[in-house]
Amino acid sequence: MLPCLLTVLTAFATATGAAAPAGAVPGADVAPVSPQAAAAGFVDVRTVVPDAVIDLRYATPRNFVGVPLYPAGARCLVHDSMAPGLAKAAESLRAQGDVLVFWDCYRPHDVQVRMFQAVPNPAWVAKPGPYARSHEAGRSVDVTIAAYGQLVDMGTDFDDFSARAQAYATDGVSAAAQANRARLRTAMADGGLAVYSGEWWHFDGPGAGVQRPILDVPVN
Ligand SMILES: [Zn+2]
Repeated sequence: MLPCLLTVLTAFATATGAAAPAGAVPGADVAPVSPQAAAAGFVDVRTVVPDAVIDLRYATPRNFVGVPLYPAGARCLVHDSMAPGLAKAAESLRAQGDVLVFWDCYRPHDVQVRMFQAVPNPAWVAKPGPYARSHEAGRSVDVTIAAYGQLVDMGTDFDDFSARAQAYATDGVSAAAQANRARLRTAMADGGLAVYSGEWWHFDGPGAGVQRPILDVPVN
């Protein structure tokens, strides 16, 4: 049974103290990003996808390491090059009554190091290197879909380190979950975002695979 979105939202608000005031226009009250984030070309995804649900699992104990890896108030930061694609993907989903849920966005290098120490298997956790790419460059996101206030069934939870997490898995993944994954992939592809076959929730923006200098940008 997947957690209901209300639980997720409540957990997020509790973790960050970031409950939006009633009647607020989503995205309208997003504080500017830090000078370091701005210098790296990062934006807060809520300014791009105002109705996004932000549930950064690494800011909570609900992740494979079991402890929060991000500070309270962590934001979903993405490189500006992902913005048009994410806006388009969200628009496609919105037309079907779906919203994007962000589980991870920019990931600081030191967090990647801690993750790899916890699961030193490059098939599931990218091995930290001397360069930033993908999440470490703010050019990849981990997302799912919520509809009618509830996470849709994708067949596995986030960071499910099993074959069922592969984007096109069929064994042990219901037809409905396969269709939901396809719905997410189609929307993200509308925005030009690339599917990663190894994990149904991971999508790459333009230039995600390019090796860039390591960033040291605060995630909050
Ligand atoms: Zn990812």
